[in-house]
Amino acid sequence: MTSLTVLGATGSIGTSTLALVDEHPDRFRIVALTAQSRVDELAELALRYRPELTVIGDPACYAALQERLAGTGLAVAAGPAALVAAAELPAERVVAGIVGIAGLAPSLAAVRRGATVALANKECLVAAGPLFKAAVSRHRARLLPLDSEHNALFQALAGSEGRDVEKLTITASGGPFRCAELAEMRVATPEAALRHPNWRMGPRITIDSATMINKGLELIEAHQLFDLPDERLDVLVHPQSVVHGMVHYCDGSVLAQLGCSDMRVPISYCLGHPERLGSSVPRLDLAALGSLTFTAPDHVRFPAIPLARACLRAGGAAPTILNAADEVAVAAFLDRRIGFLDIVAVIEEVLAEDGRIAPDDLESVFAIDQAARRAAWRKVAERSHRPVSELTP
Ligand code: NAD
Ligand code: MG
Repeated sequence: MTSLTVLGATGSIGTSTLALVDEHPDRFRIVALTAQSRVDELAELALRYRPELTVIGDPACYAALQERLAGTGLAVAAGPAALVAAAELPAERVVAGIVGIAGLAPSLAAVRRGATVALANKECLVAAGPLFKAAVSRHRARLLPLDSEHNALFQALAGSEGRDVEKLTITASGGPFRCAELAEMRVATPEAALRHPNWRMGPRITIDSATMINKGLELIEAHQLFDLPDERLDVLVHPQSVVHGMVHYCDGSVLAQLGCSDMRVPISYCLGHPERLGSSVPRLDLAALGSLTFTAPDHVRFPAIPLARACLRAGGAAPTILNAADEVAVAAFLDRRIGFLDIVAVIEEVLAEDGRIAPDDLESVFAIDQAARRAAWRKVAERSHRPVSELTP
């Protein structure tokens, strides 16, 4: 039996993880489950898996969770410190499925006790890459990339030496606006941007896929995971989302990982590693698909990719600011405060404003993150002609 904690259990990644656990009830024992505010869903999961600890991130939801689980003998807690406490409980594996910078402290807590961490939360590697990686090696933790492209690369690398690798390619579906004109993108609604053609995911990453900043964040993620510079990391738009990542070797060989667009494929790899965990995901039928296509991304309609590459090269505080400004801009777009194209424009303006130094500890990561958020809300306020005080949550 493998002991498992799921951070972000009610989300898209958390739900897919628990679906795999359900397929293998004899292989996993759930140690802790967390969520931010969905009390009813979290309570149902707690009753089903009976974890040692159930944590709700939002303290305002604590009483409701306590009430839902009263008399069950299940331990409950609330707040950011409790999320960290959940990650600190001795589970062998932790699925880091919280969205945003909020996932950093709990994921790091799992790393610091030497756990095997299946990392969905790419923000850990974008906002605090060098610190996060240093903690992984200092505490002899194991990082398993769960993001589908990075999981594909991890599989296709098959433990091979870095010097044999010429380049890595990650693929992008292109999102809902792959073929859209800029004029259409300018007036795109949250509903249209949330309509992802291939993947069912949480709102932030779905909007990030529509702007394609998700691919930019993933380039930074790949840079941190596989230690390759910007010029040896490629993006290809591949609307079928069948090939997820490719490793180009020095002898001209290219190894790719393929699979249907279902996160249970990379998650099962992370749950079973080094073994493979069988699952009921739909099998790939290439004959039915007929053809796979690949094109270079359009940097004019999707300026987030070159912007993220510039942050990758600059290092220091730039990736931290990039992530923070994006979190704010996406929230503001979903709230109809700014237009779709304003998302990347706001991020660009926040990045241009700032010359702060590289974060050297967790506190400075959070300080940079907070300052970038304030700057992003100011930019949103300017664009939406509203005072900042009326906008900030
Ligand atoms: P989601 O919005 O569906 O779920 C997020 C989870 O985090 C929920 O359980 C929610 O309760 C919790 N959460 C939200 N805000 C929180 C906070 N402030 N504090 C504590 N918990 C909080 O998101 P998702 O799509 O499952 O994505 C989760 C992470 O995985 C993200 O970092 C995303 O980039 C990454 N990822 C997701 C997918 C996917 O297919 N969904 C693929 C690759 C990577
Ligand atoms: Mg991905």
